[in-house]
Amino acid sequence: MENQNTNGNENNGNSGEGGNGKGRGRSILVMLVISIILTLLFWKAYDRIANGTQKEIPYSGFIEMLEKGEVNEVEIYSTKIKFTPNDDSNGLNKTTYVTVAIKDDSLANKLKFAHQKYGTQYKGIDESSSAIIGTVLSYAVMIIAFYLFLSLLMRKSGGLMGVGKANAKIYVEKKTGVTFADVAGEEEAKESLTEMVDFLHNPKKYLEIGAKLPKGALLVGPPGTGKTLLAKAVAGEANVPFFSMSGSSFIEMYVGVGASRVRDLFKQASQMAPCIIFIDEIDAIGGSRDSRRGSDSEREQTLNQLLAEMDGFDTSKGIVILAATNRPEVLDKALLRPGRFDRRVIVEKPDLKGRIDTLKVHSKNVKMDESVDFKELALATSGAVGADLANIINEGALAAVRAGRTLVSQQDLIGAVEVVFAGKEKKDRLLSAEEKRIVAYHEVGHALLVALQKHTEPIQRITIVPRTMGALGYVWQVPEEEKYLESKAELMADLVTLLGGRAAEELKFNSITTGAANDIEQATNKARAMITMYGMSDKFGMVQLESIEGQYLDRNLALQCSDETATKIDKEIRDMLKASYLKAKKLLAEHMDALDAIAAFLIEKETITGKEFMEIFAKSE
Ligand code: ADP
Repeated sequence: MENQNTNGNENNGNSGEGGNGKGRGRSILVMLVISIILTLLFWKAYDRIANGTQKEIPYSGFIEMLEKGEVNEVEIYSTKIKFTPNDDSNGLNKTTYVTVAIKDDSLANKLKFAHQKYGTQYKGIDESSSAIIGTVLSYAVMIIAFYLFLSLLMRKSGGLMGVGKANAKIYVEKKTGVTFADVAGEEEAKESLTEMVDFLHNPKKYLEIGAKLPKGALLVGPPGTGKTLLAKAVAGEANVPFFSMSGSSFIEMYVGVGASRVRDLFKQASQMAPCIIFIDEIDAIGGSRDSRRGSDSEREQTLNQLLAEMDGFDTSKGIVILAATNRPEVLDKALLRPGRFDRRVIVEKPDLKGRIDTLKVHSKNVKMDESVDFKELALATSGAVGADLANIINEGALAAVRAGRTLVSQQDLIGAVEVVFAGKEKKDRLLSAEEKRIVAYHEVGHALLVALQKHTEPIQRITIVPRTMGALGYVWQVPEEEKYLESKAELMADLVTLLGGRAAEELKFNSITTGAANDIEQATNKARAMITMYGMSDKFGMVQLESIEGQYLDRNLALQCSDETATKIDKEIRDMLKASYLKAKKLLAEHMDALDAIAAFLIEKETITGKEFMEIFAKSE
């Protein structure tokens, strides 16, 4: 998910920070009290440092010391007398004596005498209102300074010690301005959500007939496929406010905070009903309660509160809850039962048509020349999600600006596809001549096997300019049409192609390098999947030996067989890869002339197109 939902609240002047006025008033009061306490403490400490310690003594003691010449300096206030003794006036830790003044007419004379005889200094101190005002003012300035300092600290840390519901980020958009027209493809998802829109528009129609609408729908799909966008579009189509919060932002380390945030969210939403509540990454709070080790009471309480709120509110008010996740399998069953998120809307990665539409939606405001061919781009971006495609259009537009052009061309966009998938060209990484040769032969090895085998996709281009994401070179293949099935023959051909890089290196240089690491990883995964999931190995037959976990994320595989079988699978993979490698070497050895010719061209040009490749290939055959 991209953080697009963060900007809505500024535009409409609605309070985006969650938490109501009451909570905020309380936290201001707390800060004020803390500021006052700090000021007093500070003042006391300052006083101690500046004036040293104070000792109270009786008036008689003062007169005695004065007459003995033990007093250094006297300050006379209207009700008290402060003085410092002679022997302890050495600076830092000086003691000040205080005594309560009594009416003594002879004091003036005694002071005069002491001054003349012992050099005692004395002065009267004015305690008029202006002096008091001065003191009060300096207190006030200090309290304000502490208050400002505390509020700065609070804003930075997101709350006084991170507690309190005021810092839960609820984003509110009164009008999202997004409609279904902004969401490309995803027709099935839109269809399921249209009913919700209609319900928000016209709840009476449903209530009259006695129908209850689902309280919530769960949007399930890989990251970047437009789940947030769809939720916003529902709000936009229904013309209702959109409340959004991320599942993870409910959770704090303090138990009970999450639950109070859930309450707060529903309270605010019910005040603005009809509206949409969108909870992104709901798996952060809605994970199954029994699958977790140990107790995690904060998460559990938050989830329980969410369930209670969902049960508690009345759909006739017009609150619809949409939640998004890419790990539906970990969700607690209680969330999925009827009356809660009973509708599941699958938001898949777009197919060819979906990608073309997404590219079109995002290029609406981008000026393009006539060379742009969305179908070609869509074919080259199989597996990309909406967010990638939006990024490609933007990168293409940036490239056009960089080149000083006013229109975006197909070439810009193809370059952008490469930037998004392989990273930027790393022009400053200079390969030595020898390394460049090795990379060139490696890549041409792959490409030649593509051309030599029947079941593979045509080459778009080959490049040996290093990229920021780590590739030193690559062969870019683009299918002629979108495919949903792959045959065993195609997969076998892919294995040979993947190992062709290493084969070319070995054939040409009689040595091997680390450059094949990624190829080996891909080939191993492919061979493993053929055996354990696709039932394409004669030895094992059609038995499921591995299952997929986390379908929408990284697709982790979990073995479903005995250790003994696992060992056999490993051996089978090794045999398959070995056979593929031998085949790659054999095919390349038969076409060494073509390999040399194309590699020489590539070393010189660094990038060659599929067409140039085929021309040289045809000539050297
Ligand atoms: P998710 O919530 O599924 O992770 P988002 O809804 O945040 O994904 O999508 C991120 C961005 O990708 C969107 O803001 C939009 O620009 C783009 N996008 C994704 N899917 C689509 C789509 N189907 N149509 C148009 N744009 C899309």
